[in-house]
Amino acid sequence: MPKAAFCADCGAYVWVSRDGGCVFGHLKSQLRDHHDTEGPLPPLPGSSTPLLAPAKSIEPPPPPPTKVGEITTKHVDVLPRRAGAFATDWVIGQSLTYYAGRALATLLSGGAGGDLPFALLLVAAPVSLSVLYGYFFAFEATVGVTPGKALFGLRIVDSDGRRLSRVQALKRNVARIVDLILFGGVGLYLVSASPLRQRLGDRWGKTFVVRA
Ligand SMILES: [Zn+2]
Repeated sequence: MPKAAFCADCGAYVWVSRDGGCVFGHLKSQLRDHHDTEGPLPPLPGSSTPLLAPAKSIEPPPPPPTKVGEITTKHVDVLPRRAGAFATDWVIGQSLTYYAGRALATLLSGGAGGDLPFALLLVAAPVSLSVLYGYFFAFEATVGVTPGKALFGLRIVDSDGRRLSRVQALKRNVARIVDLILFGGVGLYLVSASPLRQRLGDRWGKTFVVRA
């Protein structure tokens, strides 16, 4: 019996050729949903008869989810604003971190200033880093938006469109460590690959960044 399969390159059910690929020359790896099928034999090359095989069943591949609760793709179509908000928050957060680090260094060196010994830097670095994360978390957990997001007309909500909870804010910011890998490249990739524009922190916390 002739074999048919769904070819991802063609976007249709096609006959499977003798080498196991698509009759249109696409690779074996592009085929799924193999099945034996009744129906006309594949025509010879040069024939005008369509090479499309009868579908196994009416089963289009499920579309990626574009709605969760009240949130749709329309609400999360805010990427340029989000980039601006992130840049703003990053500058504010880094400035706070820098000044917190300097204040701490002054404190640890007994007001003498100057460079800290390495051992003290090991203490100061995590403390100042927690200032950066604390900045994001404090605003998100209390008012549901950071100054950068507020400036760009955004807010962070749950799937019902309500302000995110403290636990959600915590998850968002713990996962930020991963999202910031490669200078934010990981988060950016996850956002662009996600229909509802969620970075890892949004997925874990079940949050969405939407227009205010
Ligand atoms: Zn094909």
